[in-house]
Amino acid sequence: MSKYNIARITFLLALIGCLYLQNFSLTIAVTLVFVGVLSAGAFFIRWNFYHTSMHCLSNSSALFLTFDDGPHPQLTSLVLDMLKKHQCKATFFCIGNKIKGNEHLLQRMVAEGHTVGIHTWSHSYWFDLLPTYKMKQEIVATQLEIQRATGLVPTLFRPPYGVTNPMLARAMKYTHVTSIGWTIRSLDTVIKSSEKIIAKITPQLSAKRILLLHDTQPCAVEILQSVINTCASSNLLIGDIQQYVKCYR
Ligand SMILES: [Zn+2]
Repeated sequence: MSKYNIARITFLLALIGCLYLQNFSLTIAVTLVFVGVLSAGAFFIRWNFYHTSMHCLSNSSALFLTFDDGPHPQLTSLVLDMLKKHQCKATFFCIGNKIKGNEHLLQRMVAEGHTVGIHTWSHSYWFDLLPTYKMKQEIVATQLEIQRATGLVPTLFRPPYGVTNPMLARAMKYTHVTSIGWTIRSLDTVIKSSEKIIAKITPQLSAKRILLLHDTQPCAVEILQSVINTCASSNLLIGDIQQYVKCYR
């Protein structure tokens, strides 16, 4: 049973208790707590509240790199160059509507041993308000677009903004995708100083963890170089997720 269902049952029982006691203030308080728990469950993907996501690879001894929001016509190839230079593998969670015209980048990812995953078709700000069938369409359309570009049907999915809810849980269940979260959030789309980002993530780099970066950010290559250097100096392997998780159908 999901934590969401446990919370619903708990709320229902608490509500019945409040009504039995005819305590209006307590009813309001219980309702507010329930709404707060639902909201926190939506925003903190690591709670695994509505569905389970993979936030680390406990059976590995490596760090895993992930890049979201691409492909970017200029920056993604620079990231790929850096990964190739150091023979490191990464997972790219691509936005469906960015693939047309950039198919060569996805083909290069696959040819160089990286993994391509789904990051919805539109990555809309309003994605989390969509009904289940629309979310399902976003996932399937991106899956088909990646298949058109690479010949592979991806099964790894990263929810946009890391926000989850019951509609997304159902859409993922219907599309049989595996949700991938993260252990280390770089906030590289928010923090504009690469030095600050590097200072933030470097102490967190360790085995089993998943690092979230964006190949759409100009600082991506500089941060990646720093991560690779840190891993090399501390004998920390950068892992290939394909060795641990089924990534294609
Ligand atoms: Zn994103």
